[in-house]
Amino acid sequence: TDVKELLLSRIRDVADYPEPGVLFKDITPLLADPAAFTALTDALAELTVRHGATKIVGLEARGFILGAPAAVRAGVGFIPVRKAGKLPGATLSQTYDLEYGSAEIEVHAEDLAAGDRVMVIDDVLATGGTAEASLQLIRRAGAEVAGVAVLMELSFLPGRRRLESALAGAPLEAL
Ligand code: IMP
Repeated sequence: TDVKELLLSRIRDVADYPEPGVLFKDITPLLADPAAFTALTDALAELTVRHGATKIVGLEARGFILGAPAAVRAGVGFIPVRKAGKLPGATLSQTYDLEYGSAEIEVHAEDLAAGDRVMVIDDVLATGGTAEASLQLIRRAGAEVAGVAVLMELSFLPGRRRLESALAGAPLEAL
């Protein structure tokens, strides 16, 4: 579609970042183009409404940039999932495996409750580890998963497969 082509045209490939051999997908040209950023915001908000979500969870850091305007547009609340140690209140935390070592993410426990239906938003789905951990956090908080929506899925990595059981039938939408 036209929107997909517009979005793709505003993503920059950066070779050997953050380390040799990695082709990094840089979304800053898209953010700098108001037509593209608006089209992306509208698309994410439409998915949020279509899947009946009552909250958006954005994953640090680019999930904040994409998720916050989508939440305003969709008329739902925004909840940040952050790297460990950044949130001041009582948190739920979840660790997950990386290629080397592990990582930990947190959410404010009181921001999610039974009855919430949550759409998780991020820029890029790579191995799926971050999104999977966020789904576990949402379920542990007693809330329901409405789906995961990303700008880009790196389909040469097994992210979609890794997310399958945590999604439990909820959709993974890649624009
Ligand atoms: P995963 O946990 O391996 O799926 O990695 C996803 C996380 O890493 C997301 O929060 C992304 O923002 C980030 N990430 C991984 N690869 C890229 C990339 O090529 N461009 C931008 N962000 C990326």
